Amino acid sequence: IRSLLAAALLASWLPLCGQTSATPEQRANLLLSKMSVDEKVGQLNQVFDFSGLPGMPAPAQKLEDQVRQGQIGSILFVTDPKRINALQKIAVSEGAHIPILFGFDVIHGFDTEFPVPVGMAASWDPEMARKAQSVAAEEAVHAGVRWTFAPMLDIARDPRWGRISEGAGEDPYLGAAMARAQVKGFQGEPGQPLRFAATLKHFAGYGAAEGGRDYDASYIPEELLQNVYLRPFQAGVEAGAKSVMSAYMDLNDVPATGNTHLLREILRDQMKFNGFVVSDANAVGDLYTHGFSSDAKDAAFRAAVAGVNMDMGSGTYLKNLKQLVTEGKVSATALDDLVRPILATKFALGLFDSPYADGDESTHAVMLAKHRDLARVAAARSAVLLRNEGGVLPLAKTTRRIAVIGPLGDSQYDMNGPWSLTAKPADTVTIVAGIRNKLPGADVRFAQGVQLRKQFPSMFDGLIGPKPEAEWDADKAEATMKEALSLANDSDVVVLALGESALMDFEYASRSSLALPGRQQELLEKIVATGKPVVLLLFSTRPLDVTWASQHVSAIMDCYFGGTETGNAVADLLFGDVSPAGKLPVTWPRNAGQIPIYYAHNLSHKPYGAPDFTSRYWDLPTEPLYPFGFGLSYASFEISNLRLSKKEIHTKDPVTAVVTVKNAGKVKADEVVQLYLHQKSGSASRPVRELKGFQRITLAPGESRDVSFVVGAAERTYWSSATHGWTLDASEFDVWAGDSSTASLHDTFSVVQ
Ligand code: BGC
Repeated sequence: IRSLLAAALLASWLPLCGQTSATPEQRANLLLSKMSVDEKVGQLNQVFDFSGLPGMPAPAQKLEDQVRQGQIGSILFVTDPKRINALQKIAVSEGAHIPILFGFDVIHGFDTEFPVPVGMAASWDPEMARKAQSVAAEEAVHAGVRWTFAPMLDIARDPRWGRISEGAGEDPYLGAAMARAQVKGFQGEPGQPLRFAATLKHFAGYGAAEGGRDYDASYIPEELLQNVYLRPFQAGVEAGAKSVMSAYMDLNDVPATGNTHLLREILRDQMKFNGFVVSDANAVGDLYTHGFSSDAKDAAFRAAVAGVNMDMGSGTYLKNLKQLVTEGKVSATALDDLVRPILATKFALGLFDSPYADGDESTHAVMLAKHRDLARVAAARSAVLLRNEGGVLPLAKTTRRIAVIGPLGDSQYDMNGPWSLTAKPADTVTIVAGIRNKLPGADVRFAQGVQLRKQFPSMFDGLIGPKPEAEWDADKAEATMKEALSLANDSDVVVLALGESALMDFEYASRSSLALPGRQQELLEKIVATGKPVVLLLFSTRPLDVTWASQHVSAIMDCYFGGTETGNAVADLLFGDVSPAGKLPVTWPRNAGQIPIYYAHNLSHKPYGAPDFTSRYWDLPTEPLYPFGFGLSYASFEISNLRLSKKEIHTKDPVTAVVTVKNAGKVKADEVVQLYLHQKSGSASRPVRELKGFQRITLAPGESRDVSFVVGAAERTYWSSATHGWTLDASEFDVWAGDSSTASLHDTFSVVQ
């Protein structure tokens, strides 16, 4: 009887597949009108299948049964096309006859890894991020994965938080540009056929976790939420993102996943988001453990009322929603509203017409030479040169004896960075390999020097990445240190690769200090004491305390984790085939005591008549070690002649700012020209500076170019706590243009009513 029923259902839905002229929403509505409550609830249920992850137990048969019974709308973590197709076959032919949406964390690559997102942001090159994510989407789609839980848009102003790696840093303007670009990369331009769906996460305020401790509560006043934390999400919604993930934590005492103000008033009403909301993993069930819902049923109720469409992994909807509908607590219309955008996305993705992965063909589309080439360009564009005393960089290609020292010098796994779950480390080029590729005739030798270990275990240990190594005993530690020093002494130059391992910059990977972990500082000081030229390469996604290095090491380059082609890209930079041009997407503190520190802060109180009485520490300068937007080049750029199109405008009018940029150096290089704004008075105090424009340009030696920025009403509109809404004040404005947030080229204009 079941199979007869199924055949009848299939027959009634089949016409939908041919209705290509109907919109995805119309097709979803037609389908909805024929579905049972059980089938609808099934669409709201997403389950884990860990079979794709090494070290995880084989999936239970139960999953197939659940698919057969129409209890699953989406599966995450399966990336094997054969398994995807097998499950899909059950779903479309035996189950509810609705294809499954396979989701995965495609964060910065699938087979080919690109730089971690904060590194991509350091390139200040949204177009490159778009291209990278479009390759990631292409590779994932070939495996049958049609939905990613990216881009992560959490503004992070606390580098103790490990997930700073996944976002675009501290700034809403840069964050919005990277959000737009990544959504377009994953999904294509609005109007193009959709193959892959993006998720804006984690909505909202996850990056403001108290103390930088992952999963802790955030307290964000409305003006900060609107002006800073939500701006990248607004940009992602406008770019057409199909889904949004509700965050784990409490925002202002209400869990984000049960937060009606966030998910309805802001996301749906204000931002006009019309896709679907998926909870973070188990976050619907967590409403109960947050001390918010009285039990699991109440958790399902409150998440549904808040507008969470899909329950990731907790099974709370599956167990409770039907009863809530039967009792009339959740209306039939409300249930349909939850299901509709999920079905519409499946239709938009073409899953009803073509549900299967390319299967074995998948290997043909991954790791193409052109993907690797792009990854190499992306990794080089992401690196930020922080120091280059005496022009030690670029190194001469005639250098013969090169010592690569440090725990990150030859680690394939770490170079891919966190959230590279499908990458194969064996494909990845380390620093040692990259330098050998660049200089086949040179003597490139490696010594690890010290061990890199987290102090406390994590729930991810062994499940994601290699099993943590046992701590070295004292003899081994001394012998390894000695070996590194003797290699340094025996070389012409030392390339020192220090920082954090990839999984130190991950979920559930917060730190209390920014010091180089383990004995790396000691190794650094001993290597510098050899008197050899030292280039310090930093691998991490959070700024590290390199105050000592900033005074004693000739060259420092922040390389983030560059992905598959890291080593080749770093070699391109080290030996001058490419000039570094990345800029910091976060302010670099001197140590953790300065946190929070970000450039767009509000002016500290200056008592009238006592100008020196400013906010400060008595034991540390107030300024950061390196400012937001900072990064050096092998060329030298002159940015001059700031001209404004008008000195006085009306509130809604734009003003254009133009600067002339000249490459006064000897090599072709890129510069990121930045524009900052400050509103001098108004209904509320505004930050001392805010980024409102940037462009990355390439100039040959001696070449000059004019770069222009339009400062329109959008750039001057802000959420005012005084007016409780979006506000456009008449005021005088400062404008600065230059190569970092400390730019001094300045002018002013006035806005009048
Ligand atoms: C993370 C999300 C991720 C999800 C699925 C959660 O722990 O917070 O960012 O998408 O797991 O992997």
